Parts: sequence; structure tokens; C-alpha cells
Amino acid sequence: MNILAFVESRGGKLRGAGLEALCTAADLASNNHGTISALLVGANSAGLANELGKYGASKVYVADNAELNGYTPEGYREAVIAAMIAAQADVVVLSATVMGRDLAPVLAARLKAAFLPDCVSIESDGGKIVVKRPVYAGRCLMTLAATSLPAVISLRPKAFPANVGDARPVETVKLAVDLAGKIKSRLVEERAEAVGKLDVSEADIIVAGGRGLKGPENFHLVEELAAALKGAVGASRPVVDSGWRPHAEQVGQTGKVVGPTLYIAAGISGAIQHLAGMRSSKVIVAINKDADAPIFKSADYGIVGDALEVLPALTKAVQALNH
Ligand SMILES: Cc1cc2nc3c(=O)[nH]c(=O)nc-3n(C[C@H](O)[C@H](O)[C@H](O)COP(=O)(O)OP(=O)(O)OC[C@H]3O[C@@H](n4cnc5c(N)ncnc54)[C@H](O)[C@@H]3O)c2cc1C
Repeated sequence: MNILAFVESRGGKLRGAGLEALCTAADLASNNHGTISALLVGANSAGLANELGKYGASKVYVADNAELNGYTPEGYREAVIAAMIAAQADVVVLSATVMGRDLAPVLAARLKAAFLPDCVSIESDGGKIVVKRPVYAGRCLMTLAATSLPAVISLRPKAFPANVGDARPVETVKLAVDLAGKIKSRLVEERAEAVGKLDVSEADIIVAGGRGLKGPENFHLVEELAAALKGAVGASRPVVDSGWRPHAEQVGQTGKVVGPTLYIAAGISGAIQHLAGMRSSKVIVAINKDADAPIFKSADYGIVGDALEVLPALTKAVQALNH
């Protein structure tokens, strides 16, 4: 079984989720006595290839056509297929990030491949790949097996580790991708989040606020605790819909799926659609003034109290520990 890992990068930087895909793909290849190759797409990505040696890659294909500077499903699909042909890969592993969730089904359809999306665990038994994926907003786990190859597997971000190992030499291969007449859409504009702001899907600690914060003027309390913990700010959907916080911070079924080590939910009721995005967090702390709020059923630790008082008290305590 030869495996290709599509390693996502953005703004000339490798994404953590891309490295998780590479490490998982490398493990899968080694368990099945197959080869592992990686693919980087976009401008300046060649400079990142050597870095991948630490994460299990020995051969890295690089597609840096000018037309691939900005995601398009057709352009990236062609790059992945070209790399699969070059690497003689029959399995492609990528992360189910916003881009991956768009690209993976496009690839599977074009390759007429077995499609195993949004996995939280993978096993391979005698060359057969078996995965688990959450369904019904995280209430159930579905077990899926690929009955044929090729296969396209996408991994839920943060569900798999990106372990750094010994740096090994990397062979970089420039990939020719024939894009003539293939690209049907064009990236018109991309707006970056404020510089230095940590994205919820990459963060190891998240402090999220809900409608219980009462208004946007109180979100500085969430920001201050997040800053003290060196974490990111998250939000529930009504908070985003009301314009209190940007959509990039929304956690849940229609927002981002996160899996940090610590998730602090302040003034969030714990609706199933919110839980769908944060349930796999390692430790969940809930702050809610209603002792019967559903969020407490999913929380490891609960504080029954007014978030407007509890948040500054926690920030003060963390700041004291930091000194
Ligand atoms: C198709 C669909 C998709 C959805 N997608 C998402 C999604 O991606 N993400 C998401 O979050 N939601 C999503 N929702 C909405 C979801 O159903 C809930 O409505 C939403 O999560 C509730 O947000 P909330 O907990 O902030 O607000 P509320 O449900 O209003 O809860 C506020 C909580 O704050 C508590 N509270 C009030 N005052 C205080 C205080 N001073 N201190 C402490 N606690 C206090 C209350 O007891 C309450 O538990 C979706 C809904 C649908 C139908």
C-alpha cells in the first residue's frame, strides 16, 4: 500500500493539521510495508519540503505552478492526482480542514475511490483500512472499511498527533501539473485574520464565550483569560450571528471542529450543535450560572456562577501562576 499525504500549507508555513496527516500516513505506510510520499502545493512551498523529513517523509512532491497559488478544487485535485501517479500511490491522506473538506470528496469522485472522511481513528488489518468517524453531531461513531483501492482518507484536525522524529534526508521532486482548461473557478479575494491571532482549529487551549456573556462589550473577559493561557478565543453561533465575534471563531456543527487539550466554555448552554464542534476536547471546563445547563453533562469540571465574575477571577489566578 503506497500512501501520499497532502500536507497543507498557508502563507509559506506548514499547517499543524497537514503534519498530522503526514505522520498518520507514514504510520499507515509502515504498518503495511508501503511507501510514504508527501505533496506540497502552492508558491514557496518547495522551501518547506526539508522540514517534512522530521515527520516521516523521505520523498516530497512539490507543485508550485503560479495557478496553484490559491486554492481551487480543480487545481488541487489535479496536483494530488499527478502526485499519486508519480508516487504510484493508492491511498491519499489529508486533513479535514476547511480546504480538506472541500478537496477530499472532489478527489474521491474523480478517482472513483473509497471515501473515508473526517476520521478520528485508523487501523489497518492485513492491508484493509478500517476507520472511525463521528456522525449525528458526534453522538455516534461509525466504523467504515475501504473495500477497494484507491482510497481517500481525511482526518479530523487534532484527532491524530504530529510527532517530531529524527530529521531524515528528503528528496524533493518538482511536479508537473497539467492545468490547461481544468480550473473552473478563481480565488478572488482572501482576507487574513488579524496578524498573530491564533486560529481556534490550531489552538491547544480555547476559551469560548456564548450568549451568557450578555454582549460584545464583555468579551474582553474571554480574551484576557485566553491571553493569560496563551490560547485562542472561540464563540457559539448566536454570538457570531449577532455580530459580537467574527465567524472564524465559531465552534460547532456550522463552525469549526476543534480538539484542544483544554476547552473552557463560558456562558454556553451546550446545545448539540455546539458540542459537535468541541466534544473531542481533552478537558472541558464549563462556566454557567444555571446548574442544570446541558454543557455540564459533557464537562470534566464545572463552575456554577456568573461568567462575568468567574472569568476575571480565573484570569487573575492564571496570571499569578504565570509570574
Ligand atoms: C443547523 C444548526 C446549526 C448550528 N450550528 C451551531 C454551531 O456551529 N455552533 C453553535 O454554537 N451553535 C450552533 N447552532 C445553535 C445551537 O442550537 C444553539 O442555539 C447555540 O449553541 C446556543 O448558543 P449559546 O449557548 O451561546 O446560547 P444560549 O443557548 O442562549 O445559552 C446561553 C447560556 O448562558 C448561560 N448564562 C446566562 N447568563 C450567564 C452568566 N452571566 N454567566 C454564566 N452563564 C450564563 C445560560 O444559563 C445558558 O446556558 C446551530 C443550530 C442549528 C439549528
